[in-house]
Amino acid sequence: MTKLTRKDFLGFSSALLASTSLAACATPQESTQGPALIGGSGKTLIKNADILTMNGALEELLKTDVLVENGKITAIGKGLPAAGAQVIDADGMILMPGMSDGHRHVWEQLDYGRLVKTNPGAYSSYQEWKMRTIVSMNPGEHYLAGLLGGLVCVDSGVTSVLDYAHGQINQENAIAAAKGLQDSGVAGWFAFQLGVSSSYKPGDTVDLSKAHSERISTTTETHWATVDALKRDVFTDPGAVLQLGLAPAAGIGDRIDVIKEEWGRARATGVNMIAAHIHKPPRPLPAGHMGFRDSGMLDLADAGLLGADYHISHANRLTEDEFKVLRETGGMVCATAMGEFPYMTSKDRGPACHGRARKAGVATGIGIDVIMALSHDYFEHARAAFWSLYLEPEGVAIASSYKSPDVLDFVTALGAKAIRLGDVAGTIEVGKRADLVLVKTNRMAFGRLGTLADRIATFASREDIDSVWINGVAKKRNGKLVGVDMEDLMSKVEAAQRRYGPLAASITFTGG
Ligand SMILES: [Zn+2]
Repeated sequence: MTKLTRKDFLGFSSALLASTSLAACATPQESTQGPALIGGSGKTLIKNADILTMNGALEELLKTDVLVENGKITAIGKGLPAAGAQVIDADGMILMPGMSDGHRHVWEQLDYGRLVKTNPGAYSSYQEWKMRTIVSMNPGEHYLAGLLGGLVCVDSGVTSVLDYAHGQINQENAIAAAKGLQDSGVAGWFAFQLGVSSSYKPGDTVDLSKAHSERISTTTETHWATVDALKRDVFTDPGAVLQLGLAPAAGIGDRIDVIKEEWGRARATGVNMIAAHIHKPPRPLPAGHMGFRDSGMLDLADAGLLGADYHISHANRLTEDEFKVLRETGGMVCATAMGEFPYMTSKDRGPACHGRARKAGVATGIGIDVIMALSHDYFEHARAAFWSLYLEPEGVAIASSYKSPDVLDFVTALGAKAIRLGDVAGTIEVGKRADLVLVKTNRMAFGRLGTLADRIATFASREDIDSVWINGVAKKRNGKLVGVDMEDLMSKVEAAQRRYGPLAASITFTGG
């Protein structure tokens, strides 16, 4: 894999943008609509909104104003002065906190629809699809995937995402993917997967088990060099809304001493997010391995490896003792309930754990996970997470005690906490970052009665989203993404799909 110097990167970067005109098509541009669009430094007054705060008291404030200054919420009240502010008339609309997605593979966005979960037979080739596609996409396409994936988040009211970035086989692709996501303006984490080592290329015939073993292999100096490059070239501002995280290669099934070494080095880079996929091993592993006991949380706890930076997705079969050590160490959990439906009744893999995890006091969110294969209407995912609680007796008891704010907690207040942003986002309160979603309620099928939480949890859909702000910057207004030439963006997406699709199909796997 080629190593890029800073000078090379700058050359590559401008070439990338020049050759594909990606920046021109979709990089957020400066304001045509007033001061709210200029960085986080503008002043915006959102007037007469019905506000679903999701604050500790779960207040719902009718016909109330929210003042946003320098990216933060500075006042909430009736009749706030509008001097110097861009005024947004939110009469008849519901203002809610921007939502969080704790586990999504953003790079897959570019190939959405190639495989879908409503076609399970075709979808069963997902891992092979992944292994074909990650060696076929080029840096420009990774940039486009990151940009598109971030914009899809924003469009659906997801203002913070944890991108579990496991599709980049080299430094150029990783840098481009991170830049694309950064340029979309979405907040959260680019959690780079260490150890991706796929060595075959389009046109090759490769043994399937070899391809599998390379998908996430051992982390080498090449991967650490990519981490250095990401820090140096993309994640230079510790105050930026998008930050670098890492997904170590070593985890469940590996020796604890191996995990300790890799995680120690990952944490020494200064990142504040260590992400992992967790599925309980079908059989207990030998002592000294993660997975000796249950899903490995107690093994990690004994080794002193748990911490407030540890984020796990799925985690379906975690025991009460495992949730307890996560709660005590500040660990975070993300269920991907809609995506997990097909294996909900599997002994090792289901059902989704979010109800039990939240009940145990663990910071718990939800996520879409396989973004290529599922709906991008994030309200559907919030509802699917609720309905999935009914798949087991304990979940039935949990669900029956819920009210609508509990359903929305996983995507707002608790969801933000579950990606380490609880102090920053997830509620509408003075001092919080202005990550806000304004929802229209005038569609025929949007309920007129009930609490704001009832109406959002039951009736809201992506098409109702009028406006989205991240860090006080308007990213969507009047139902349209700001500064995005949609026709141009989609033509680039289709051109990219036409280029790498046949390359991915040209790989032959044997021995499967
Ligand atoms: Zn995943």
